[in-house]
Amino acid sequence: MYAIKLWCYAKVRVDLSAKLPTKIPSCVTLLLVLMVPAPAASGSTKGWLITMQPRLPVNGSPLLFRIKPPKAVEQLSGKWLGHEIPFNFDPATKTWFGFAGVSLETRPGSYTFQVSATRKNGDPISFGRPVTIGKAKYKRISVSVSKKFTEPSADQLRTISEDKQTKEALFNRVTPEREWSGNFRAPVRAPVSDVFGTERVFNGKVQSYHQGLDYGVPSGTPVSALNSGTVILARNLYFEGNCVVIDHGQGLLSLYLHLSEFAVKEGQRLKRGELIGLSGGTGRATGPHLHVAVRWQGVYLNPATLLSLTLPADLTP
Ligand SMILES: [Zn+2]
Repeated sequence: MYAIKLWCYAKVRVDLSAKLPTKIPSCVTLLLVLMVPAPAASGSTKGWLITMQPRLPVNGSPLLFRIKPPKAVEQLSGKWLGHEIPFNFDPATKTWFGFAGVSLETRPGSYTFQVSATRKNGDPISFGRPVTIGKAKYKRISVSVSKKFTEPSADQLRTISEDKQTKEALFNRVTPEREWSGNFRAPVRAPVSDVFGTERVFNGKVQSYHQGLDYGVPSGTPVSALNSGTVILARNLYFEGNCVVIDHGQGLLSLYLHLSEFAVKEGQRLKRGELIGLSGGTGRATGPHLHVAVRWQGVYLNPATLLSLTLPADLTP
């Protein structure tokens, strides 16, 4: 049977009067200080200050690590859940920071964040710190879709396969340098109509997870870039319709689906808030809306959490 990753094929009503399970508490700006002893270390790790946002990450969370070494280091990198994390240095605060995330599939528990650095005298230093991942409570909903979504024709399968190659080539890339600056901003001024992580059930069986945020905006609504970056894709894809993907650096991408019109070209550099296109209902969407997704090193993350983070701005690259 052909397995299809369905994006945004159905407009779904969700009770938004209920408290969103993924809502980040207002104390998100309070940074959790990980001062627990390192499980494995080389060299002295005394005085290293490691903080992160959000304070209580769950599966699906973006995660910003900040590291302040007791003395200056030449370079610094991290390892987290099997991913290499590039870090950038902010001379003003003498802090290194890097973007990471936790996949939807990650089970709750304690995981080691591994730090490697080189001191000014050339000595290497390496140590780990435990990070606790909680379990997100995502909604479960039932949807019904037409057969054309689950049983595409041979021609459609060919298009889907070509799209898959395009996406694989682009979506897993990591540009180590940071292009984003400051907080991420919502792409439209409208309420969210479907949250991230919703389990979609067909005939009593979970078939897919909603891997972005939906905004129920009418066709023709201006859509803006979540943050600064470079457009790496602006073209029509089978499921996604007219789709724009922005590379924000540090392994972070934002995706905008089902657009009616493009306002950008591939290769174009954008500032946060710049127009990228108009919303629509192209691709596998039953009605006009905007689907926004965030990827970090091949993993879909909750855009709502990203939008709630307080991030460093106007730093030297
Ligand atoms: Zn969607």
